[in-house]
Amino acid sequence: QAGASVIHLHVRDEAGRASQEGKRFREAIRKIRARTDVIIQTSTGGAVGMSVAERAGPLECTGADAPDMATLNVGTINFGEDVFMNKAADTAEMAKRIRAHGAMPEVEVYDAGHLDIAADLLKQGLIAAPLHLQFVLGVKGALSASEANLEYLIERVATMFPAGTTWGVAGIGRHQLPMAELAAMWGGNARVGLEDNIYVDKGVLAEGSAPLVARAVELCGRHGRTVATVAEARALLGLATRA
Ligand code: ZN
Repeated sequence: QAGASVIHLHVRDEAGRASQEGKRFREAIRKIRARTDVIIQTSTGGAVGMSVAERAGPLECTGADAPDMATLNVGTINFGEDVFMNKAADTAEMAKRIRAHGAMPEVEVYDAGHLDIAADLLKQGLIAAPLHLQFVLGVKGALSASEANLEYLIERVATMFPAGTTWGVAGIGRHQLPMAELAAMWGGNARVGLEDNIYVDKGVLAEGSAPLVARAVELCGRHGRTVATVAEARALLGLATRA
């Protein structure tokens, strides 16, 4: 209702721990689809330390419960005090599972070198155009959320990937809304919400992801951009319309 066209989805168990269990995703997807035709993108990142098999849980949702998109993590980074491990063989395996499932991958780019890995995956045929890339900027241990870094990534996308490749940016913490504004100015897409940032203003907790979406929509308007409807977003991403 606030204007988002894609939901990036994680689930938790009863104890509030991050979970990648297919049945929990199925339940969430059914509840979302009962209310809206929004594009559903399940995470296959899960939480630090999970195996590929565990992380692929959401891909057990098929048929009417199938997610439209699934994230594909392509490189290993430091993640605060942790290491978010994505070995080449694991990335290839996840890419194959996403392809077999029929979901569109969203390639997560936490660092500049991840673009090179993505280009390599494209060359190997493990992912295919039209591509959608998400720049996740500001994780402690990976590429920081600066204007110069975003500008660099956008330039690299134009030279490294086929025409029609789309990108979005997800700024971590206080960088979320400034990065969304740059995306609005520079022709991209923005991810906002509680996964990456819990404040709607300095020191003011957001009462859910919707107020952050509303703020991003406002920033788009300030720069002459309008947010896509779900149908428009499907067309932009090259996703089929759901029956
Ligand atoms: Zn996520």
